[in-house]
Order: sequence, then structure tokens, then C-alpha cells
Amino acid sequence: MRLQPLPVPTRVYGGEGIVSYSHRHAARNHSPPGEIETGLRERGIRVRKAHSAAERVDVWRQLGNLHTSAFTAPTKIDGDPVTDRRLCLQCTQGNPAIGRLPRVGLVCLRHKRWLASSPQIDLCAFVAALTAERHFRNHLAARGVLFDSFAMELARACANPVFVGVEEIERRRQQSDIETVDALIYPEQIKFARMVTSPTFLEYVTNPAHLADDRRARITREVTKILPAWDDSESWRVTERIWDVARRLTQLRRESLLWGAPARDAYYNLLRFIGLPDFVIGDDWDDYGTTPSTCRRTHHAVAGNGSSP
Ligand SMILES: [Zn+2]
Repeated sequence: MRLQPLPVPTRVYGGEGIVSYSHRHAARNHSPPGEIETGLRERGIRVRKAHSAAERVDVWRQLGNLHTSAFTAPTKIDGDPVTDRRLCLQCTQGNPAIGRLPRVGLVCLRHKRWLASSPQIDLCAFVAALTAERHFRNHLAARGVLFDSFAMELARACANPVFVGVEEIERRRQQSDIETVDALIYPEQIKFARMVTSPTFLEYVTNPAHLADDRRARITREVTKILPAWDDSESWRVTERIWDVARRLTQLRRESLLWGAPARDAYYNLLRFIGLPDFVIGDDWDDYGTTPSTCRRTHHAVAGNGSSP
């Protein structure tokens, strides 16, 4: 049975989730969403309570007269969860809305707004953050890196204002009149995220065949390209942070070679960038050892392409 849309139409915003939409659509029609769903159940229409339940999603698509592509943003990409967050308030004409935008970093490029603060702030006076966002979309999101993934969190830690240089941050603050420090260090954050997900870099610094001193020196070299030696820069601390992760990943690769088993990099989820199989991504780890290797590899490749739930 096809449901009649509610009388007052409500536009769905790009990436908006069903919880956000159902509340807004119900409010514009003067009833809580729970009441509408109870009414439907009383008419014998199945609406499961789980937010992601297919029937529920379908019911709200019909109640809003929405296209079938509404509420289809992925919940997981390459093993990382796609989390809900507040959408750009200018994209939503001031209506608070929540959704999943895996291709977006921390900036709405259309409105030049920083999304990760409350209130969201204008970035027109700090073009470097807009450029950084373009790099995020072209080089990171395109490879499945999410705005809150480990790579981005590590990169933010590396772009700490103390490491970038307090004077430099102060200069940016004065020039742009922006007080949100995370926005001021976004250019360095994106550079570090690109560095720690670069296949060439990762392959070298986590390769058990290379000497530890050489691997560490490579990290130092790359870090100093991003953090020039300002007087108060403490780039050696950044090297330490990345070195710590590199050592652990090297250990995983060493064990993987030793046991002939896939590297299990569930926590960092970085080894996928150098093409090392990680069965955790496809939840196939338990199957390991029971299937011939060629089949395992093929199966993983399929699961990693997003066909797994
Ligand atoms: Zn916007």
C-alpha cells in the first residue's frame, strides 16, 4: 500500500538521516514522529522501531514524498563508521539537521563555513582552510578517509598549535579574526593526514625490512616539510607521535610475515592504504584459515568494496 504524504511537505537535505528528517517533517505537520508511527501501526502498517529498519526508512520516504535515494548515505566505508553530525546551517536554511556526509571534511565549501564548532563560523577571511578542504575531498575522501577517522585524529594531534608555532597561529588569528584554533590549524591537519595515508610513505616507514633509524629519519624529513623550523616549532614531538604509530604498524607487518596471516590493523586502519589485506574490514577474520588463500583474497576484495552490511 502506498502511503499518502503528510500535508505539509518538508525538503530533505543532502546526507540528512531519518531521525533528523522524521522529527522535522513531523513537527511541520504538528505531530511528534512517534505519534505518526503509532497511527500507522494501528492501521496495520509495519514500522519497526530501529532507526535503520528498512520499513521505517521506506515509510518516511513515502510520508515525505521523497526520492528513493533519500537516507542512503553509507554507514561504513572501508571499515570506518560514517558518523552523524550537524549539517551546515546555511545549507539547511537555519534548520538544525543531522546527517552523514562521508565526502565532506570539516568545511562547507558552498558557504565557506567551518562545520566542527558551535556556532559554525565563517571562513571567508581564511582561504587556506578552504584550500585544505578541497585537498581533503580530492585526496583523502576520494580514498575513503573520513573526517573523524584515526588518520584525521592523528593529523590533528600533529597539527597542535604548539607544534605549528604559537606566533604563526597568532598571526593567522589576527589576519582572519577567527578564534577557533582547530580551523586555524586545518591546513596542517590535512597535510599530515595526506602524509600518514600516503602509500609510499606508509610502505617505507612500516616496512620491517628497513632499518629503524632510516624509517624514523624519513618521518622527520616529511614532518619538517610540513612544519618549517619556526623558532618555537617543536616538530620533533610530531615525529615521536608518528613514529609510535609506525612502530606498531611495523610490528603488525612483521607478525603478518612471520605467521603468513593478514595484518590485523583494526585500530589504525592505515595498512589498507598500502594494499595489505585486513580481514577485519570485511569481518572475515574468523574465516581465516578455513578457505584456500586465493578464495580468501577474492572474497575480501568484494567485501571491502562495500557489499558487506
Ligand atoms: Zn553550507
